Amino acid sequence: MNEQIDKWISEHQKELISDVQALCAIPSVQGKAEEGKPFGDGPYRSLNLALEMAKKYGFATRNYENYVGTADLDPALPHTLDILGHTDVVPAGEGWTVTDPFKVIVKDGRLYGRGTSDDKGPLLAAMYAMRAVKECGVKLSKGVRLIIGANEETGSADIAHYYAQEPEAEMTFSPDAEFPLINIEKGQFRGTLYRDFPEDSNLPRLLSLDAGVAFNAVPQKAVIRLEGLDLQDASVQKAVAQTEKECGVDISISGEQELTVIGESAHASTPETGRNAGLAAVLLVTRLPLHDSEQIRALKQIPVLFPYGVTDGSGLGIRMEDEESHALTCTLDLYHVTPTHAEFVFDSRTPVMANKENCEDVAVKAIHDAGFEWSSETGMIPPHVVPGDSVFVRKLLESYERVTGKKGACLAIGGGTYVHDLKNGVAFGAVFDGVDTRMHGADEFFDIDNLMTAVRVFADAIINLCA
Ligand SMILES: [Zn+2]
Repeated sequence: MNEQIDKWISEHQKELISDVQALCAIPSVQGKAEEGKPFGDGPYRSLNLALEMAKKYGFATRNYENYVGTADLDPALPHTLDILGHTDVVPAGEGWTVTDPFKVIVKDGRLYGRGTSDDKGPLLAAMYAMRAVKECGVKLSKGVRLIIGANEETGSADIAHYYAQEPEAEMTFSPDAEFPLINIEKGQFRGTLYRDFPEDSNLPRLLSLDAGVAFNAVPQKAVIRLEGLDLQDASVQKAVAQTEKECGVDISISGEQELTVIGESAHASTPETGRNAGLAAVLLVTRLPLHDSEQIRALKQIPVLFPYGVTDGSGLGIRMEDEESHALTCTLDLYHVTPTHAEFVFDSRTPVMANKENCEDVAVKAIHDAGFEWSSETGMIPPHVVPGDSVFVRKLLESYERVTGKKGACLAIGGGTYVHDLKNGVAFGAVFDGVDTRMHGADEFFDIDNLMTAVRVFADAIINLCA
């Protein structure tokens, strides 16, 4: 890359670190909306500090009613490239060991603190890349704008507000994910299966089974309430032991007639990394010596549609994968069973090849065949795709390869990113492949070397796209 820029970036490492520290010192978690502070005081202060920095570095800034701010590298040039980052953060949470979450420290070559990698560090890396280009006097023919959001973590109402008044740029990248580059976000397909049945009061019986906190998270915990069953009975113990072993979950007696199943949560886009406590609980119930009721017969269909440990949709008949976006994922995440009603919600992330005929219609038929009714508020939500062979994507990967010396390639993910609703938006950085920076967790960090490399990649990309 440009030697002068490379040198400028090296010389500004200290300044960048101190800006990251200042910006991360603001606990910009969404709070109560106030007059002029749509997301509360923290996001307001953090957005305005980032804008002040941009102004100090000579960019033309604008504040969109404290929803979003912008910084233009040269407002005289035609608006072409947007870089989209955010200054709000998720709550600190528990378990920090290295530092106070809002007091960023440098330790072992890393910056530790909430926001260092999601997304204040990467946002400032992009701002410093713009500075490097500007201060080194590189001539551009197209305009670059940094869009500074304040509500990414809790609904992205920030950019909805911005794009209601401003057009989408010809190209947008967001350093709010990982390198090399995410050009595909899979489609989403979710729905509720439910069934009513007459109450059967013959004992022993199941009074309730509940699991799950959100449609998009594999349940970590399930609770089963029973009536008229001796939990010390050998047949119960056997069913418990078998389910624990087979599913890798912990099952305990949590009340006189109550069992609790503990598995491991995971995001619905990567269900294979979790252990589904709800499904394990259903399996357990079907193994207990309960009176054979219509309720129990309905429950026995669930592991047929959603076999434990199988997250590719094959139980619903919708297993599929394509080369660019990989395999469909599917997980059953919400469970509510009473003596007269059973209801479950599943979440599937679908590859580009999925459509109503090969996915929704097939799944709905399997659900009906198993005796359940079906409803879906959203139906199938299409995937987000920016072609991997577009000039925009190729040039970003070129810059990544030139600076890092590594091979660049497009990624497809099941989750959504900040650019989900932008026609020509991709996620580009700033976390390097293979590094878990504990975004959203305790001891979130960013390696200083990686932060500096990100600045270089962004500076190279700006020149590559806009010179
Ligand atoms: Zn983020």
